[in-house]
Amino acid sequence: MSALRLRRDPRAERAARLVPGNGRLRYDMSATPEGPMTSPSGRLRRDPRAERQRLLTTGRDGRARLVRSGLVGQMAAGAASPASVVKKIRVEQPEFFIIVVPDLPEGRLDRTDRQVLGAARKLADAGSGAVVVVGATVDEASLGQAGTDRFVPLSDHSDPEARITELVAVMNALSPRYVLLPESEEGADIARRLAARTGLGLTVGIEALGPKQVIRPCGAGRQEWAGDLTPLMTLAPDRVSAWEGDAHEILPLETMPEKPVLAPARMTVGALQSADPATMNLGDAPFVVSAGRGVTDFTAFRSTVRALHATPGASRVVCDNGDMPRATQVGASGTILDALCYVALGIAGAPQHLQGLGRVEHVVAVNTDLHAAMVARAGLAIIADAQAVMPALCAVLAAEYGEQGA
Ligand SMILES: Cc1cc2nc3c(=O)[nH]c(=O)nc-3n(C[C@H](O)[C@H](O)[C@H](O)COP(=O)(O)OP(=O)(O)OC[C@H]3O[C@@H](n4cnc5c(N)ncnc54)[C@H](O)[C@@H]3O)c2cc1C
Repeated sequence: MSALRLRRDPRAERAARLVPGNGRLRYDMSATPEGPMTSPSGRLRRDPRAERQRLLTTGRDGRARLVRSGLVGQMAAGAASPASVVKKIRVEQPEFFIIVVPDLPEGRLDRTDRQVLGAARKLADAGSGAVVVVGATVDEASLGQAGTDRFVPLSDHSDPEARITELVAVMNALSPRYVLLPESEEGADIARRLAARTGLGLTVGIEALGPKQVIRPCGAGRQEWAGDLTPLMTLAPDRVSAWEGDAHEILPLETMPEKPVLAPARMTVGALQSADPATMNLGDAPFVVSAGRGVTDFTAFRSTVRALHATPGASRVVCDNGDMPRATQVGASGTILDALCYVALGIAGAPQHLQGLGRVEHVVAVNTDLHAAMVARAGLAIIADAQAVMPALCAVLAAEYGEQGA
């Protein structure tokens, strides 16, 4: 005899989910008359509405935001403590250390810094190593996210030799297997000074890195080196990927290296002189605001660029129309940017224009078309008329920073 199975009654189930509405029938599909929803097999079923509700939080502007990591929503619901939700990797007793000396422009990890940390992570994970960042103070959460296990703060020196002395003291204390730096202006200088001071082998401008293999440029070609890696290495930008796995927990070092006694400085490096964003070379500008055919009010555009202390850019159509000088054209037949942030006002995002953004880290698009390619490329999109956004932005900047802008 077969086992007696209760038959479903879809009408009764639907009636049980009926909730009062404004004259219209409404059903709350997450509500179940008999507790959590189960499938015929008895397994708990997913409830996408309830999951979404848990991820909902209120942003600083008072608007509802979905936090995909689930952290904030779950905390609000009191479901779990952050420690139990966020999975962090702990490297407790490493067999060896890999030191990374990032550039940390303006006290934050930039794209190349993260790539160098990604390479260090790869070498550390090939054994049981830990990645140690040595640098000026930086937000530890972003360090952990980039794959760092330990952090040694470095004093802020205006004398490059003093910095090398402090780095050498850290190296003596930790005896790292490798020291990795970006092949940037600053990283390249430190690496060569370290090599000269310590006499350790140095490989520069590495383009591909594995535990037993290195590929680096050589003349017009590339050269592969197999075997033991040199203790000091610099990595070329945009060749190695950043760490994309779970965040690492930054644990304290058992013995913090002692600060060395420094000799009086023989030379000092002065403070960085900032260039005028309005006239600086577009290819070097860190922050570019560009106008496309969607911009009709160029007086407002120029005020916005000034208020943001940005460098002006434009799409080819705008330059062809004579609204902006040809030197401001961004794209394949204009300038390729190396900016940290790009604001595209009324620019569709044609392939030739997007080629100019190859190395831009943050893109903000202002466009009336939600489906514009520039909106797809952007990390933040404002779907609105650029003529309305520009004065609104200037008003916010004036309220926050006065007439001088940001
Ligand atoms: C060989 C070749 C090389 C090229 N090189 C380049 C290059 O280097 N750089 C370059 O930029 N282009 C280049 N182009 C041209 C390119 O293909 C596009 O035609 C051009 O980029 C389009 O410019 P646009 O986005 O400003 O204009 P459109 O394509 O007309 O787009 C305007 C955008 O503005 C939006 N918009 C309209 N009104 C508003 C509003 N009120 N508020 C907000 N948004 C609004 C629209 O939704 C649209 O997305 C090249 C083309 C060729 C064939």
